[in-house]
Amino acid sequence: MRTMRWLGSLTLCLATIAARAAAADQIGLDWKAGAASAVITPQTNMWMAGYAARKKPSDGTAQDLFAKALALEDAKGTPLVLVTMDLIGVLPSLRQSVERQVQERHGLSPEYLLLNASHTHCGPEYRVRSGHEQEAKDYTSFLEQRLLRVIGEALAQRKPARLLYAHARCGFAMNRRRNYALAPDDPNAKRAPNPDGPVDHDVPVLMVEGANTNLCAVLFGYACHNTTLSAVSMTNNVPRFEFNGDYAGFAQETLQAGRPGLTAMFLSGCGADQNPYPRHFMVPFVKPLEFAQLHGRTLAMSVEAAMAAHVRPIRGPVRAALEYVALERQPLPAKAPNPPKAQSPPPPRQYPVQVIRFGDDLSLVALGSEVVVDYSLRLKRELAGKAIVWVAGYSNDYGGYIPSRRVLAEGGYEAPDYRPEIEDRIVGLVHRLHDRLAP
Ligand SMILES: [Zn+2]
Repeated sequence: MRTMRWLGSLTLCLATIAARAAAADQIGLDWKAGAASAVITPQTNMWMAGYAARKKPSDGTAQDLFAKALALEDAKGTPLVLVTMDLIGVLPSLRQSVERQVQERHGLSPEYLLLNASHTHCGPEYRVRSGHEQEAKDYTSFLEQRLLRVIGEALAQRKPARLLYAHARCGFAMNRRRNYALAPDDPNAKRAPNPDGPVDHDVPVLMVEGANTNLCAVLFGYACHNTTLSAVSMTNNVPRFEFNGDYAGFAQETLQAGRPGLTAMFLSGCGADQNPYPRHFMVPFVKPLEFAQLHGRTLAMSVEAAMAAHVRPIRGPVRAALEYVALERQPLPAKAPNPPKAQSPPPPRQYPVQVIRFGDDLSLVALGSEVVVDYSLRLKRELAGKAIVWVAGYSNDYGGYIPSRRVLAEGGYEAPDYRPEIEDRIVGLVHRLHDRLAP
């Protein structure tokens, strides 16, 4: 009986693989794709990004940091390059420099280049700071060389491929904002994490298959701060000063370890108000780095679950747009004494919005900086139609939090002083670009 059941499940399994292969064959190798990766761990110890509480530079590496590029080309010959990095963010100066050089060397239009950072808080600080100018300059030049190298290699390695989409769910992200809706006289109820706050637990997965359904690259997303190793973990014997990619780094490592030859890439989502829980020293017998590894494996298993679930073909043509919208700040508070006069607000921020449409099958929206989850939920709702909608944050820009109207009204940590129209300005531009790129 047991043998029969075993044979039955084997037959079902083989039938599933055969059906998947047949379906994949029918889709055809309509794309060309190439992937490349390079280590971007600093070659010497240097200051780390993310926590001002650090008072000394790094003292080692717990896990290497990587830059990875996926170069795609649709049937019409239009190229698209997606780059992911285990870094705090994409500084505008880095984006501008890489964009210009990639255009010069490879003729790639800026709107067809996406740069995304995992927002690990255990990577190098490459913003120029007083007293550390040379260090930041040296690392930036090293990083740019590596980025140009992986982009060049990925473009050079383009081979016939098919694109498939799948998704699953992963639950460790929890809203980290206090529950402002609760009574102000109940301080305990207002503590973070907030299990009743909005989340986006979707794990979108783009699979790149070569001939013989060989999986060469996997791009996966998640909306959660990449900060399992929080500032609180900077005590005792933890790798607080060791470079590592946090949960996103361990998720990529897990996927690649199980599938030799695979390039696994993490595309950070709208996780500005989400944290991975538990984290740092929340559980006495688990060290912070172990939490990062656990969350990484959990996310990797969600990607595996997605790939075993319903898989949809992604067809071209690929069309992309990248535009900047001015985000206005509130006027600064009036200064005493008399006569009190409102100071003029800081100049508006030029904020990048990128939309990439894969035919009628997939719309990828890439927003700059640290975007709260409301944007992802709203855009997926409003753009819902025939195409799958995937929203990334931390793309092409790094310069603080991007609050929604709700978060601005509540105030608190993720609510810098933008004017309340910020959400509609960003979402409005996404809609305009999305409509313009309609197949
Ligand atoms: Zn952050």
